[in-house]
Amino acid sequence: MDYLDNLNPRQREAALHTEGPLLILAGAGSGKTSTMTCRIAYLIREKGVSPYNILAVTFTNKAAGEMRDRVAALIGGGVNMWILTFHSACLRVLRKHAELLGYSRDFAVYDPADQKAAMKSIVKELNLDDKRYTPAYFLSIISDCKEKNMSPEEYRAAHGEDLKTKIIYNAYAAYEALLKKNNAMDFDDLLLNAVKVFQKDEAALLEYQNRFRYIMVDEYQDTNFIQYTFVKMLAQRHNNICVVGDDDQCIYQWRGADIRNILEFEKDFKNTKVVKLEQNYRSTANILAAAHSVIEKNKGRKEKKLWTSKEAGNKIVYYRAEDERDEARYVAQEIDRLKTRERRYSEFAILYRTNAQSRTFEEALSRRDIPYRVLGGLRYYDRKEVKDIISYMRLVQNPADDLALTRIINEPKRGVGAKTIEKLQALARVRGESLFQTLTDEEVTGSLSAKASAGIEQMVRVIQEYNQEQENLRVSDIYDGVLVRTGYLKALEDQNTLEAEGRIENLMEFKSVIYDYEKDDPQLSLPDFMERIALMAEVDNHDENENAVVLMTMHSAKGLEFPFVFLPGMEDGLFPGWRTFDREDGLEEERRLCYVGMTRAKERLCLTSAQMRTLYGKTDFTRESQFLRDLDKHLIDGDAIYEKKKDARAASSMDGYSREKPFDPFQQLKYVKQQVKKTAAEPFKEGDQVVHPKFGRGTVVRADDKIIHVAFLDGSLKKLAAGLAPLSRYIKGKE
Ligand code: ATP
Ligand code: MG
Repeated sequence: MDYLDNLNPRQREAALHTEGPLLILAGAGSGKTSTMTCRIAYLIREKGVSPYNILAVTFTNKAAGEMRDRVAALIGGGVNMWILTFHSACLRVLRKHAELLGYSRDFAVYDPADQKAAMKSIVKELNLDDKRYTPAYFLSIISDCKEKNMSPEEYRAAHGEDLKTKIIYNAYAAYEALLKKNNAMDFDDLLLNAVKVFQKDEAALLEYQNRFRYIMVDEYQDTNFIQYTFVKMLAQRHNNICVVGDDDQCIYQWRGADIRNILEFEKDFKNTKVVKLEQNYRSTANILAAAHSVIEKNKGRKEKKLWTSKEAGNKIVYYRAEDERDEARYVAQEIDRLKTRERRYSEFAILYRTNAQSRTFEEALSRRDIPYRVLGGLRYYDRKEVKDIISYMRLVQNPADDLALTRIINEPKRGVGAKTIEKLQALARVRGESLFQTLTDEEVTGSLSAKASAGIEQMVRVIQEYNQEQENLRVSDIYDGVLVRTGYLKALEDQNTLEAEGRIENLMEFKSVIYDYEKDDPQLSLPDFMERIALMAEVDNHDENENAVVLMTMHSAKGLEFPFVFLPGMEDGLFPGWRTFDREDGLEEERRLCYVGMTRAKERLCLTSAQMRTLYGKTDFTRESQFLRDLDKHLIDGDAIYEKKKDARAASSMDGYSREKPFDPFQQLKYVKQQVKKTAAEPFKEGDQVVHPKFGRGTVVRADDKIIHVAFLDGSLKKLAAGLAPLSRYIKGKE
């Protein structure tokens, strides 16, 4: 019984309470997951329950894997037991019973890319305007419906007779028919159809009800309606259901998680035993108190307080950096300082609010040769859109770069398929010229489809123009122009999905990279810039032994723990993020996320913010996060907070929060587009006084619709391409 001896009396009580419904409602780090794991071991070892009769569900594959390992260690040996995520559990049910719903058992599972392709064909078939009705638009509505178990017919009944409803109904119904025809299910279907199997066939339900005599669900606070229904149905027969969760850690409401599932568990299952765990074993007293001082500001919560027998430990360190580079430098330096010989890099975690924040940390860590891994996301320079745009820039620098061209010839989609690309490459080889050269031949492009030839000609023109003009342009001008004029940005915007939005954010973030360099060197040339980027992009910091600092979002850190935790970007607008203000309860959910982030730390917690932040290419003064203001100041070691901001904007803020949206990548996007348009349209004539960002003030000496000749004050005479030159009119006193 050794492993049970490690449990405290309450945990033990929970682990030994095997019959009847059990709710473990407790705060972070109180041993919920550990207790559940011991409970499984106890069932098997002491109660003689077969692993076959147990079902344990969690949210991520990583969590499921960890639990499986821990159970295996406790019972000595691997077990073939259902410790799974919701999706994989449902998939197993369906592999056996899909026929009940008219699928064959070897049905296909459509991932998001497949879904999009399917939807695309439907939009076409229904003759809809694909600009207005993107596949993503329909797919997100359909996903919402499926989360609520709402069929196309039910959707129509609920939304009335207007045209929009009719269109959505048609698309949804056609999508369902198409998937059915292809014997396929999407991810939402897995959950929904498993429930449908149970609803439709009593025998099937009975089979699983009989099998799963003991059911356990971790992170129950984040279940949505369908997941809830799935477990509830399964548990009905034996009523041995144990759920664990923490209402303070519900961070997925925006994806349909329903906190009521945990709060109303006692109503759903009669005679529920409720166990509250109050001792936290993870964090030092200071970390715990700090986290509590933040979460207690939430109005809609049940008061509960954790205690620890651990020592106070170090205070929470707070560092207000000058800017985001200084912030990253500080964090890397601290990791270097704290990483003694007894410590591993994997004991350090940097948890941020948005993926776009990872880049500066990646750079700072690389600079110090600290190995790191970006979890649940790609390293910045490994991201598709970043690689694409770097390829475009490489082409501008050197159009003969065939590799770069091949990467983007059909990005955005120009209707140039793999076969065509091969043919073009073969032709270029025969002619002994670069692929780009071949594409400049109008006879060659003319032989392609109308769409392909128009797309390629435009791309070729843009690249040629910037190539010829590169010395007269800033890197940032080239970047904006390429993004907009090749159609790359537009294609992303048209997708209108969360994923595409994320890509746009990353592309706007790329402007921060450029600004960083241009700030230091206003004359920065494209080749210089490309050389530095190449160095960053090629660093391979992957450590096979996983002895690496972990970078990830706070969302994906749920359930995990680390001795050293850094939470950067504690600024209003970033965390809490401005977008959460559009939703009711948005701020409270952000505060719960902050609580999740802080309670990941075992020994040391460090918060940072930057006085000035360049994000998405826009530099702004920031205001410290209101979560910092919530924090009990006695627990903090570091720069004074509540630093008065000189900026008048902050003073006018309501309930302590500036409603300004300082880091809006889409604001930046708008600006980029305006700028490109303005540059293209602005006419100049002889005698105009102008300012050029690289060359300074000058006078236009001659201008036609192709070339503007400018005499600059330093005596140089330059020929600039009309429509591309980043010239603005000189206004006295406003340089
Ligand atoms: P979260 O809310 O973050 O998911 P949790 O409640 O699931 O946290 P666990 O991850 O199970 O908490 O446990 C947190 C830490 O406390 C782990 O390192 C675990 O080993 C330790 N722990 C749990 N119970 C005890 C105990 N009785 N004695 C000593 N350490 C314990
Ligand atoms: Mg847990």
